[in-house]
Amino acid sequence: MVDAHCHLNFHAFEKDCDLVVKRAIDAGVEAIINVGTSIESSQKAVDLAQKYQNLYAIVGIHPHHADKIAKDWDKEIDKLAKMPKVVGIGEVGMDYYNYKSNGITDPKAQRKIFERQIEISIENKIPLQIHGRHAGKDIIKIVSRYKKRLLPIPGVFHCFAGNLDYLEKVLAMGFYVGFDGNITYKGFALGEDTALPELVAHTPLERLITETDAPFLSPEPHRGSRNEPSYVIIVGNSIAKIKNTSFDEVNRITSDNARKIFKI
Ligand SMILES: [Zn+2]
Ligand SMILES: [Zn+2]
Repeated sequence: MVDAHCHLNFHAFEKDCDLVVKRAIDAGVEAIINVGTSIESSQKAVDLAQKYQNLYAIVGIHPHHADKIAKDWDKEIDKLAKMPKVVGIGEVGMDYYNYKSNGITDPKAQRKIFERQIEISIENKIPLQIHGRHAGKDIIKIVSRYKKRLLPIPGVFHCFAGNLDYLEKVLAMGFYVGFDGNITYKGFALGEDTALPELVAHTPLERLITETDAPFLSPEPHRGSRNEPSYVIIVGNSIAKIKNTSFDEVNRITSDNARKIFKI
């Protein structure tokens, strides 16, 4: 199984990264992709990919940080995109959720860095890993404008949430869809009207990948504590249950998908 989106590059794993990686491998995780949200955390993801055989990196600036970027930020991301074991540009996108910590980042600034990073992904021929929250319509609008230039497999909408119409549009554009431990939670996420298991059920396995977003979104029964890549097995089991198939089938197909998208 592959954890196609997590953050071992964050402070939460500073002390025991070795153990966390070992637990994941022992649990049957064959590859872990660490994703950047800033220049600093992207560089850290690249460093970790150098240190551990099964680790890969995705580099980019998260929409949260769109209003606090340095002048030549895009040159830095482009440089990082060319490093060994960098398999994508992310997490990039649009986010209109009103966060307690920093509210909503200026949408214009978000859009500007999102568009530039779509270009960097096209120029470097590596896929996008898109982060979206309550911004589906605008993301579709922005990404559609690049339709002709995107890679044959343009990338992944990570930690997917939204409604069935949005999901259809994402699949129609050729993107894959990533699901995380929050598919094990009961009820709807704040501001959403479609349950995540319903979205999983409507995503063909051939277009689905597994992720954790560790240290966030621990699956049940670990909800509330630090998430880690070994728990991607729980995500796989949950998907198997929703789709009424075996874990082995989910493991085989989603791992193939991740290898195909990210060329790992
Ligand atoms: Zn995200
Ligand atoms: Zn993330």
